[in-house]
Amino acid sequence: MNHEVKKIIIAGGGIGGLCAAISLGRAGFEVTLCEAASEMRKSGAGILQPQNALGVLREIGVYEECCQNGFQTEWLKQHDENGSLLFKVREAFLDDSLPGRNNILRQTLNDILRKHAEAAGATILLGKKVVSYEETADEITVHFADGTVMTADILAGFDGIRSVVRDQMLQREVKTEYLGMGAHRFFISFPERVFHDSTLMYKKGQTQVGVVPLSEKTGYVFIIRPYDADCTDDEDTRFERVKDLLHGFPGVKFVTENMSKEYPVLFHKIEQMAVKEPWHRGRVVLGGDAVHAGAPTLAQGAAMAIEDAIVLSEELQNDENHETAFQAYFERRAERALQIQNLSSEIVRREIKGTPGVQDIIGECHRLLKEPY
Ligand SMILES: Cc1cc2nc3c(=O)[nH]c(=O)nc-3n(C[C@H](O)[C@H](O)[C@H](O)COP(=O)(O)OP(=O)(O)OC[C@H]3O[C@@H](n4cnc5c(N)ncnc54)[C@H](O)[C@@H]3O)c2cc1C
Repeated sequence: MNHEVKKIIIAGGGIGGLCAAISLGRAGFEVTLCEAASEMRKSGAGILQPQNALGVLREIGVYEECCQNGFQTEWLKQHDENGSLLFKVREAFLDDSLPGRNNILRQTLNDILRKHAEAAGATILLGKKVVSYEETADEITVHFADGTVMTADILAGFDGIRSVVRDQMLQREVKTEYLGMGAHRFFISFPERVFHDSTLMYKKGQTQVGVVPLSEKTGYVFIIRPYDADCTDDEDTRFERVKDLLHGFPGVKFVTENMSKEYPVLFHKIEQMAVKEPWHRGRVVLGGDAVHAGAPTLAQGAAMAIEDAIVLSEELQNDENHETAFQAYFERRAERALQIQNLSSEIVRREIKGTPGVQDIIGECHRLLKEPY
């Protein structure tokens, strides 16, 4: 490769960072991915992979493995709290050669991506938290919490919503905005087959319950509802509180009867954050939640991070100069990712105010995603 960029450090081993490592590693760059956590993701619920995410995963050669280890659905069925079907919509919106959606455990996805990143030649270092960096005309030096340093030609910050790489690059502390809702999520296992070809949703007032198949007999459940900004969610009583909440949904009796303390219930406040100025400066470039974190309402956060990863890799292959490659990447990605992020947050705002039009937002999202990334 004749490029001025040969050595790349990626900060963050989430979905975005790992996909960047696969794509850049395959393209022949010397990639070192540095993840702050001392072990790769061991917990977490599932993740919904919409068709645009599946299309990119197919390009980087991991689509089939994701499908083999996940569960494909074709329909999203919306019910009331009693389980009466209100409507059903096809999950496919892009490509008839792909399933409507693939659902997979985050840990399984992480294992698959890590394996492919290493096969692509990337070095993955755990317990390697980036704390700062400094640049010269010729290289970038990255400092880690363990006191070590590493040099490279460029640094790609895929270090999530509280990115330190972003805050140093922008020279300000970027604040997140709480959107007023929180999400509980947990894994569930059933003695009998309960899932066929559909993702199941149940709605009562401002509370939405999703039951997402991960196999015929396993799935993950999410509950999204409003919470005050200063609410705390006590872990010790969480399981019982969530079970009580689900008792208000007779349609998900099959969930309340089978949920088990063996699988912890996670809680997240839904926040958003968007970087509108360029996603690069000097030898640093950003992607994924570090620049566009939003609500999970359209299941597009990870999908956008994956698209960022592959476009960044393409532009670095297309252009010998990293700064023009970064600018081309930013121009291809920013408008699309920020629009999707804003639509995801708009759904939450409407749900809280009871404003209609959520179906229109989903339609607008699909229209945008039909444009090439
Ligand atoms: C409740 C909920 C449900 C969701 N459901 C979906 C869904 O169904 N489908 C979907 O597409 N998206 C979903 N999302 C969004 C999705 O999870 C994120 O958009 C996606 O994970 C972003 O990936 P990322 O790699 O950019 O960041 P992250 O996944 O946040 O990864 C960042 C990584 O960087 C590491 N890190 C942080 N700081 C440092 C540092 N200083 N040095 C080194 N490493 C560092 C972190 O440990 C982490 O591993 C959901 C989000 C939430 C909150």
